[in-house]
Amino acid sequence: MHIESATQEQLIEWEKELSAHYKKICQHGLNLDITRGKPSAEQLNLSDKLDGILSSDYRTADGTDTRNYGGLVGLNCARELGAEMLQVPVEEVIAGGNSSLTLMYYAVLNGYLFGFAGNTAWRELKAPKFLCPVPGYDRHFTICEQLGIEMINIPMGANGPDMDTVEKLVQEDSDIIGIWCVPKFSNPTGTTYSKETVGRIAQLGLVASPGFRIFWDNAYSVHDFGHPINLTNIRTATLENDTADCVLQFASTSKVTHAGSGVAFVSASQANLNSLKAQMQAMTIGPEKVNQLRHSRFFTEYTSLNEHMRKHASILRPKFKCVLEHLHNALTDAAMGTWEKPEGGYFVSFNTLPGCAKAVVKLAADAGVKLTPAGATFPYGEDPEDNNIRIAPSFPPLEELDTAMSVFVLCVKLASLRKKLDMA
Ligand code: PMP
Repeated sequence: MHIESATQEQLIEWEKELSAHYKKICQHGLNLDITRGKPSAEQLNLSDKLDGILSSDYRTADGTDTRNYGGLVGLNCARELGAEMLQVPVEEVIAGGNSSLTLMYYAVLNGYLFGFAGNTAWRELKAPKFLCPVPGYDRHFTICEQLGIEMINIPMGANGPDMDTVEKLVQEDSDIIGIWCVPKFSNPTGTTYSKETVGRIAQLGLVASPGFRIFWDNAYSVHDFGHPINLTNIRTATLENDTADCVLQFASTSKVTHAGSGVAFVSASQANLNSLKAQMQAMTIGPEKVNQLRHSRFFTEYTSLNEHMRKHASILRPKFKCVLEHLHNALTDAAMGTWEKPEGGYFVSFNTLPGCAKAVVKLAADAGVKLTPAGATFPYGEDPEDNNIRIAPSFPPLEELDTAMSVFVLCVKLASLRKKLDMA
């Protein structure tokens, strides 16, 4: 039955039926969690060979003893891994600690406190602002919020952010000093930016204020599980436009090896790297190089990055299939939402009917299924339409995911019907 073509009586009857079913489920005492995009234990197991791979040989090919201090930009062999992930020259990569989010935080702080490459520090501007394609990654937004950088929502489309709006704003307001981009398998929509979008982003530096920076968070650069997708290289595109100083790229092995103990990378022009190095050399004598060496050996001696990611793909594929089947079977005919069908990454972005997301999350929580809070995918936690929910299928075993999704679609139906009945 289609929610828009059902009669009032049919809607009432339908709601009653589903409420009864929901009440029963609430008594099952479920305790399921599809909130954060964490790799499953099965995925983590794929990288357990990291442990012990050094066999007490802590030296790199050039003789560096990784146990000792030093090497601010990380080991060359680790930087090579970052260069492979981001498709950039190794000289433009810094290999850091375990978290790319930390590197992003440092980079925003760098722009804010000191200014990149001799440009005005953002804190000296009247009202520094970042453009935030939405729905997006909540932790990007938290960084801006903590530093008091205002955020402006930019709608995401099938090819990436709405570039007409981005270009207009960047041209009009010189206080716009950054944009967050997750260009491949975007969190949460799964979108990969088209060649045209990347080309237009690469040209922003021609019209933006000189301190403007694109935060190119390529967290899912090698995380294809469907048809392999080629993202246009932002570095090449900016070099063609003489805007290479506008981009900072990030990646990590968090969702490649062990999420909590991987290696993170930042890549940028030498001018930007010099700004970052000046900041870093006051913070640290050097990163954790033993783990960097472990990662380098893992991907040269044990497996290749491609082969390893294919193993992740075969674990993730059935989970995404499960989510998409539940959504399709339960909601397509009823027209109670829309969703993306990603070919990689970690999320399925689901849009309820307007004004239903919070209600769905609450219903699911009361039935024992934890979802990412509604609104989390928007700056300040405010989803203007209250309709976006991020589903993260990777962590639970397939059987639990299947149960969680049957509860989820039931909650979507109930919330949609209740909303419709209130309005009728
Ligand atoms: N960026 C995006 C878009 C992410 O989805 C995530 C993890 N959820 C991160 C960064 C975090 O990466 P890391 O573990 O390297 O800090």
